[in-house]
Amino acid sequence: MNTPFDLAIIGAGPAGIATAVEAYALGIENIILFEKGENHNMTIRKYYKDNKRVDKDWQGQKVEIEGRIAFVDGTKESTIDLFDTLLANHTFTLQTQTEIFKVVRHEAGFEIFTSHGTSHLAKAVVITIGRMGKPNKPTYALPAKAKERINFTLEFCSLDETILVVGGGDSAIEYAVELSHKNHITLNYRRNAFNRLNPTNARDIEAYFDRGAITPRLGVDIERVEYEEGKLEVFFTDGQTSLYDRIIYAIGGTTPSGFLDSCGVLIEKGVPLYDENYQTNIPNIFVAGDITQERGGSIALGLNHGKRIANYLIENHRL
Ligand SMILES: Cc1cc2nc3c(=O)[nH]c(=O)nc-3n(C[C@H](O)[C@H](O)[C@H](O)COP(=O)(O)OP(=O)(O)OC[C@H]3O[C@@H](n4cnc5c(N)ncnc54)[C@H](O)[C@@H]3O)c2cc1C
Repeated sequence: MNTPFDLAIIGAGPAGIATAVEAYALGIENIILFEKGENHNMTIRKYYKDNKRVDKDWQGQKVEIEGRIAFVDGTKESTIDLFDTLLANHTFTLQTQTEIFKVVRHEAGFEIFTSHGTSHLAKAVVITIGRMGKPNKPTYALPAKAKERINFTLEFCSLDETILVVGGGDSAIEYAVELSHKNHITLNYRRNAFNRLNPTNARDIEAYFDRGAITPRLGVDIERVEYEEGKLEVFFTDGQTSLYDRIIYAIGGTTPSGFLDSCGVLIEKGVPLYDENYQTNIPNIFVAGDITQERGGSIALGLNHGKRIANYLIENHRL
């Protein structure tokens, strides 16, 4: 086992970095951040398209920033820059390419097990691993042969493809609009109307539908998908079938329940059990960011969770 830390944070996304920054500002210096990706903020890097507009009040969630991180509306790139600067200006340790798979409580503290076969000890642990490690998949079976044509991000798309984007939130709209500039896009949402859309996305999708740049398939679900000779055949619940080169699902992420189980954190109604201080059923194990939400979440919310946990740790002498 290596050097003991005061605070170990698992996941270097907005909530994890905010927890580290706020805790550091309050005098906790012996902090480590574990990140399984090759860099911080893998959700933003992987799921946001280049130049994506980043909204502070994402999906209509109005949030006043409580801490010291000056997060404002911007782009994917300006948001990554903000976190780069925060990391450069603080001396806590960011250990990338280190997946944590288990946390075990001992008398001396928490033992945190890494993917390298090593373990570290910490007095308190904050779990901020988000929900996008496991993107939501549809309930119907997907053809295994078509794996590379069924995606959850834009990274595999090319040009001039006929693509079905599935989802009714801001991410689905942004994916559809972006792809429509170089592909033929149909947007499928099981409800008849979108709700909680960012006003710009609401305007955009209306305009793209109106001028035929995106074909709407609203108020209808998908029954099954088959794969034939390089094409995906989609069977809709209204009896229609259509052929696509690719399907992109933008239907959110799931609670990493396996991870929480292995830490002994209880889950209720799809989210970890936590109190008003974001402390779980295990004293000194906290959760912050998207993992605390059944759906939704936002960067600003994650930043505030980090601030509140740092305050609690200090005010209640938990380290
Ligand atoms: C397409 C899309 C567009 C969005 N647009 C906006 C927007 O404009 N504005 C906004 O406020 N929000 C937006 N969001 C939501 C926002 O990205 C999330 O609310 C935010 O990233 C959540 O932060 P987090 O720190 O809780 O988790 P995440 O950002 O998901 O970070 C979790 C980190 O933990 C790491 N990790 C996971 N498991 C482990 C493990 N076992 N060990 C170590 N590390 C691990 C991951 O690699 C990741 O880096 C968008 C989301 C999506 C998908």
